[in-house]
Amino acid sequence: MEFSFFITTLGCLKNEADSRQIHKSMILNGFKQAKSIKESDFHIINTCGFIEEAKKETIEVIFDSISLKKDITNKNQKLIVVGCFAQRYKEEIQKEIAEVDLIIGTGEYHRVGDIIKKNFEVPVFSKKTSTNFYYDISKQKKFYLPIKISEGCNRNCSFCAIPSFKGKFGYREKAEILQEIQEVLKINSNIKEICIVSQDTNSYGKNIEEFISLLEDIELLPEIHWIRILYLYPDLKTKKILEKIHKKKFKKIVPYLESPVQHVSESILKKMNRFGSYTFFVDLFTYARELFPNLEIRTSFLVGFPGETIRDVELIQKFIEECQIEHITFFPYSREEGTASYHYLNQVKKKEIYYRVNQLQNFYEEQLKQITSKHIHKTFNCLLENITSGQMVFRRPQSAPEIDDNVLVELKYKDFYEKKIPLPKLGNFYDVTITGFATYDYIGELSLNSKLHTYAKI
Ligand code: SF4
Repeated sequence: MEFSFFITTLGCLKNEADSRQIHKSMILNGFKQAKSIKESDFHIINTCGFIEEAKKETIEVIFDSISLKKDITNKNQKLIVVGCFAQRYKEEIQKEIAEVDLIIGTGEYHRVGDIIKKNFEVPVFSKKTSTNFYYDISKQKKFYLPIKISEGCNRNCSFCAIPSFKGKFGYREKAEILQEIQEVLKINSNIKEICIVSQDTNSYGKNIEEFISLLEDIELLPEIHWIRILYLYPDLKTKKILEKIHKKKFKKIVPYLESPVQHVSESILKKMNRFGSYTFFVDLFTYARELFPNLEIRTSFLVGFPGETIRDVELIQKFIEECQIEHITFFPYSREEGTASYHYLNQVKKKEIYYRVNQLQNFYEEQLKQITSKHIHKTFNCLLENITSGQMVFRRPQSAPEIDDNVLVELKYKDFYEKKIPLPKLGNFYDVTITGFATYDYIGELSLNSKLHTYAKI
């Protein structure tokens, strides 16, 4: 008898990469993938515990799974909670949620299969030797692959609990990363984009050259058309990395800089134990745009940090206006146990924090109108990721999967039929001209005369 599993993944692209490790370890241990939670013997929830909202979502999903367990015929189904939330709140889960059968922390993703087997005395199956560990991925119609290049963080930002449960920074060897990419590419020919994820990307390797060498090897993979580097800490090293990328004339690295500044007020940055200043960040972003003229920037702000004043919020607005940042997330500050800022004086009231987040979000959306209007009539070489009833969903190189804007194009079947042109194919690249913007997505038009690009043009 074979036992089956189902993985529910919460959180960000990093968790998606970790779930792939869990999946591999389950398959290697002889488990098979179930089609749904209901049909599984082991339901594994890969959790997120980053901020208050993520924790709430995790708890809801755990309780939903417990209710679901009551309705299904397989009363022996085991509920396994893995990852960030599990690591951080192990004791609380053990005390409060008796229905959770096993808790596995971070750093054990590649051992989840072994641990489950030992804990539940699952009989030893013949171990899989094939490389088809990623059975589910081969069936996915996803065109990007998040790849984790390191784990943990040494930076000690005063608001952040991540180092306490992810541990010290450690990076993966280039060979191991490339092997993982190759394993997935072998079974899924849909993958066109690699998203490099980690807690702290610019700390990769012994020096910048090691990181550049990793990028060079990824660039050599013929299946990969786009390489997206996520989470570059906004300091001098990021500046140097951008310079190197520019000098080496990479062809596949997309013009996209994700660099979370978290604040621009110098006094707040100091209390956050983070590098930078208003001027440094303006210079960094201006320089990045000079190097890569089509570049778009994604950053985030932590709003309502202890001691933050109205003046500090105004400074964020000034910065957004000055830098014309295309993609922003505002996180409301949440007081996290085990962090230095938990004990800081002058905590801002929750109601006030949400008021400030709203205020900044509204301001940003007004700015966004100007930023997006500059793109009208511009043509982007986009990846076709989805076709729904009468609509094609494209993504620009300047937009990250899951979080940024898409370009929506009406699919006029008649035009293709009359001109005897084959219908656009998912996973291919096409020239799309922007004609408008609606809430968070662009509206565009596909030029029927535009040639299909086997290689994305960046
Ligand atoms: S850089 Fe700062 S915010 Fe990011 S994971 Fe490290 S400690 Fe946390």
